[in-house]
Amino acid sequence: MPGIYRFSMSDLNKEIAEVTSMKIPAVLLFGLPNHKDSSGSQAYATDGIVQQAVRAIKKSAPQLVVATDVCLCEYTDHGHCGVIRNRTVENDETLELLSRIAISHAEAGADIVGPSAMMDGQVQAIRQGLDRRGFQETAIMAYSAKFASAFYGPFREAAESSPLWGDRRSYQMDPPNRREAMREIEVDIREGADIVMVKPALSYLDVIRDATVRFRHPLAAYNVSGEYAMIKAAGQNGWFDDKQVALETLTAIKRAGANIIITYFAKDAAKWLREVN
Ligand SMILES: [Zn+2]
Repeated sequence: MPGIYRFSMSDLNKEIAEVTSMKIPAVLLFGLPNHKDSSGSQAYATDGIVQQAVRAIKKSAPQLVVATDVCLCEYTDHGHCGVIRNRTVENDETLELLSRIAISHAEAGADIVGPSAMMDGQVQAIRQGLDRRGFQETAIMAYSAKFASAFYGPFREAAESSPLWGDRRSYQMDPPNRREAMREIEVDIREGADIVMVKPALSYLDVIRDATVRFRHPLAAYNVSGEYAMIKAAGQNGWFDDKQVALETLTAIKRAGANIIITYFAKDAAKWLREVN
């Protein structure tokens, strides 16, 4: 994707210095391990890439809020979000691993863990795991309403996390299901989510709005890779002013009710908003 890079440990500090200088309040980390296996063991390794990155950021920029993605798909050789038995995802075995991942991130210093696997009971399992280890203060941002979306395409390529076979439709939500989204959000709040999320953002603004009105719980909207890529591509082709369209889009997400916006436009937007003011 134009303007978006993966970082190694050696160039992380420079990027974090830039992010903090732009007054961006938080970052969300995804890891790309050297080695993938069937149980995604690099996801919960003490010296895993995300754990190393969290420690480094907390050392150089302690005030920056660090959130981490808690899932297995970037770490498993089959590319699915959980443990696989007979070509289906084993929900309960996966919960144990997700809890281990979250604990390892909290140990490294993460402020927020973001379970994105869409397994049943994942928020409760992670909350219990964190509390047992003394991490009551670590917040959970639940990917509550995560729709099976074609807008994730560019990210999957960047994170090399496309499933080897099948897709994630058995554990992600069907795009037309607005009521199911409300149920999923309600369950996550009950299980202890500090922040709930709607993902993607742009094609689901009605879901963001509904959730805001109904729950009045901190809500994050994830402006995903495909939403970013199409605006950038049209801008590069001279079809419209990508800066204006991006800001209009982010405004729409905010207007719908999101308290937190996760976006690839973060650095652009921080710069543009400063120019405006
Ligand atoms: Zn996943």
